[in-house]
Amino acid sequence: MATNWGSLLQNEQQLEELARQAVDRALAEGVLLRTSQEPSSSEVVSYAPFTLFPSLVPSALLEQAYAVQMDFNLLVDAVSQNAAFLEQTLSSTIKQDDFTARLFDIHKQVLKEGIAQTVFLGLNRSDYMFQRSTDGSPALKQIEINTISASFGGLASRTPAVHRHVLSVLSKTKEAGKILSNNPSKGLALGIAKAWELYGSTNALVLLIAQEKERNIFDQRAIENELLARNIHVIRRTFEDISEKGSLDQDRRLFVDGQEIAVVYFRDGYMPRQYSLQNWEARLLLERSCAAKCPDIATQLAGTKKVQQELSRPGMLEMLLPGQPEAVARLRATFAGLYSLDMGEEGDQAIAKALAAPSRFVLKPQREGGGNNLYGEEMVQALKQLKDSEERASYILMEKIEPEPFENCLLRPGSPAQVVQCISELGIFGVYVRQEKTLVMNKHVGHLLRTKAIEHADGGVAAGVAVLDNPYPV
Ligand code: ADP
Ligand code: MG
Repeated sequence: MATNWGSLLQNEQQLEELARQAVDRALAEGVLLRTSQEPSSSEVVSYAPFTLFPSLVPSALLEQAYAVQMDFNLLVDAVSQNAAFLEQTLSSTIKQDDFTARLFDIHKQVLKEGIAQTVFLGLNRSDYMFQRSTDGSPALKQIEINTISASFGGLASRTPAVHRHVLSVLSKTKEAGKILSNNPSKGLALGIAKAWELYGSTNALVLLIAQEKERNIFDQRAIENELLARNIHVIRRTFEDISEKGSLDQDRRLFVDGQEIAVVYFRDGYMPRQYSLQNWEARLLLERSCAAKCPDIATQLAGTKKVQQELSRPGMLEMLLPGQPEAVARLRATFAGLYSLDMGEEGDQAIAKALAAPSRFVLKPQREGGGNNLYGEEMVQALKQLKDSEERASYILMEKIEPEPFENCLLRPGSPAQVVQCISELGIFGVYVRQEKTLVMNKHVGHLLRTKAIEHADGGVAAGVAVLDNPYPV
């Protein structure tokens, strides 16, 4: 894709002045992160990294991504309710991956006791890249779906004003008008509010499970603020707080510091290092409760890379979404090649294919949060080592998406403005609420565009690699 901003990106002096204006506007709009030096304090903050210009995205792909979001919501919800599918899909992985095994143990424990929760809330984000095809037209390909702690819905509602500002400074009024308004945090909050309402206790609170060190607090506050505007109060607590002060009554209602909790919203708990033994116990307590967890443990498992890979097998979507051939077709159109590495012939063939053409594949463990995937020579070494070991079942192999690079200027605190070759990743936020067997809400609530220099294979905004962006529809 060519950029609209070609000549502007060549004019260094103008870029510097524009960058100064953009950064000031970002700060004024609240596009903020705490600093890595002081991640627990808002005394000193800086702007979240972003692109100076919005990046071009084909309108058709943007529309396609929005159109398939409700299908993905339904799919995640169906997987989370299908204990047999989860068990079968994850059986080889949990023998090798301790983190997934622990999550799965809690899932089994809760099923055995009987699920107390009656209201289910999904806040997810499906991420895509634009695969260039041989005829030149780009195609939407899913990277993954995030079913826990999907972030940047708050800051993404603040960045359109920044890009409109930049374009207005350049007197590009028409272009400024094309930047889409976006407010995921409002939509995410509406989902939480609906779950809170269905829980049915006006004095109950929303519990946000927070990390001690949280640079991305303003993103979370955006959702909290939307809830408070609806008179729904949020308390922020860590897993440690829950293990000290959380309890269940005889009806498995959850109480923290003596206050009843209607909804638990996790912004922690998606990586192994976030769990001490004590934290695992706190997670189990939360899962056993009748509060609406976002996500509940089954929905977190539905977001694993192993599940993603199994969903791409012929017949799986049809089994999970019976009688919905159109939804199935929309979903399948976004799938890239995904391959099981379980022991056996199929896995052997996948490994052979990857070793023969390493640049065309990505090796993924069951991890979230960026920086865990293996590419190129690293992937080759890992595959050679894993080849004859059962451990390979803890990974999946994925076709590598190759978007067409374009130029943009990346702005980061402490670094000079940098014009580089970039690629983008588009995320669509989805919200659904189910009460017992009845779906009460299913929608898309906004988007997130993240852009990074092509030399980085992996990593998001939080990992310091990608920066916030806006789609400029073309
Ligand atoms: P995580 O759960 O850590 O976010 P992802 O599957 O989203 O894992 O991968 C992290 C990053 O790696 C993505 O944001 C993307 O930049 C890159 N990536 C992942 N899968 C692919 C792929 N199939 N092709 C190209 N890049 C990929
Ligand atoms: Mg990701």
